[in-house]
Amino acid sequence: MIKIYSFLAYLFLSNYKRYREMEQRIPDKSVKVYHPNWLLSLLLGERFLAITFGNVIIAKFIHAHLISRIARHEYTHVEQYRRYGVFKFLYLYLSYFIKGLINYKNWLKAYYYNPLEVEARLHETL
Ligand SMILES: [Zn+2]
Repeated sequence: MIKIYSFLAYLFLSNYKRYREMEQRIPDKSVKVYHPNWLLSLLLGERFLAITFGNVIIAKFIHAHLISRIARHEYTHVEQYRRYGVFKFLYLYLSYFIKGLINYKNWLKAYYYNPLEVEARLHETL
């Protein structure tokens, strides 16, 4: 029998490389930053640079002048995970996104005006 779950886990979890330049911009050493593998790069698409899961940030390789800004943005998401816990964070993020979709009928606006994203953007330039 084909171990489809193992295969999917392999596709999603393999070949991540540490992204030290971004990791060094984050004072909290428990936070780890990785480059996405090819599958997550594909899923993130062109517009999205990074995604955060708890203490783990997965960020595309970006131009040096943007690294600090994206590091501060994603670190705000790390703090949000800590504030709410993983499940409440994911619940809030998704419910804000769905409310945004209903209000704006536009998924980019739903993302942009998500209060958790608004807070993260505020910290980009602080
Ligand atoms: Zn964000």
